[in-house]
Amino acid sequence: MTKPFALALHGGAGVNPGRDYAEVEAHLRTLVEAGKKRLAAGASALDAVEWAVAELEASGLYVAGRGAAPNKDGVVEFDASIMDGAAMRAGAVCAIQDVVSPVKAARAVMDKTPHVLLAGAGATHFAHDHGLELIENAAQYFRMPIGVQQADIDAEAAELSHGTVGAVACDERGRLAAATSTGGTFGKRPGRVGDTPIPGIGTWADGQMAGSCTGIGEYFILAGGAGDVAARMRYAGLALEPACHAMLKTVARLGGDGGIIAMSADAVPAFAWNSHGLKRAAAGALFPTLVGIT
Ligand code: ASP
Repeated sequence: MTKPFALALHGGAGVNPGRDYAEVEAHLRTLVEAGKKRLAAGASALDAVEWAVAELEASGLYVAGRGAAPNKDGVVEFDASIMDGAAMRAGAVCAIQDVVSPVKAARAVMDKTPHVLLAGAGATHFAHDHGLELIENAAQYFRMPIGVQQADIDAEAAELSHGTVGAVACDERGRLAAATSTGGTFGKRPGRVGDTPIPGIGTWADGQMAGSCTGIGEYFILAGGAGDVAARMRYAGLALEPACHAMLKTVARLGGDGGIIAMSADAVPAFAWNSHGLKRAAAGALFPTLVGIT
């Protein structure tokens, strides 16, 4: 017998008041409903989250993939990870350059190497060697994400970014998966790596939950991120949503902000954030599609 399925997405914590997010809202709705159809047709949670994050990257509406902002040296370095909770496998890349889809690079690390995380030049070489699609002309390729202006990028060094992307899913076999992708925080130092590519922090999936975080990565690393949510469920018996809030409380206590989207093994999504807004959406067999920005 098939089980209920669901997909949830985020387009990053942090919303600039007064900016128009109608295009983001419409995009998230279209994407999450298309993803729900894929799951209804039998797609695995793993394929669904990879597909959704690759679409979010390609849109240029978020600070990931085509919308990523350069580091202090003017170079775009991407971080991404993906995790298959049913098989307990993960793949990730950090400070990778040149790739159109960092999440596809992360999936290739998972599928084609014995490793979990490839960094910097090694990750970029891997992408070149494994035939991943490369950015041909950087000057023409990148676009400014919705809600972001050049002044934000110049002013917000090391502050909250506005558009990491992520997806969590539960498929009709009850398998969970998560993926996250980012260009990182604005004005970051070359080589700076946040929470996004670290399985257990920015991304986690196991037999009971899948989670994808967004916010100032340094604080999520210190708070334990999505892995802390899973641990609170496993060892303290917390339900998914209270576990997400408890992890975010630690982020806030340390001085950070951001959010998390998560999915339970019975295909119920959870959202929690302490930032000003979290661009988010969910669709599934058991509930009406929901989309929210603030
Ligand atoms: N967590 C990401 C990072 O620290 C940024 C974000 O979520 O906006 O790189």
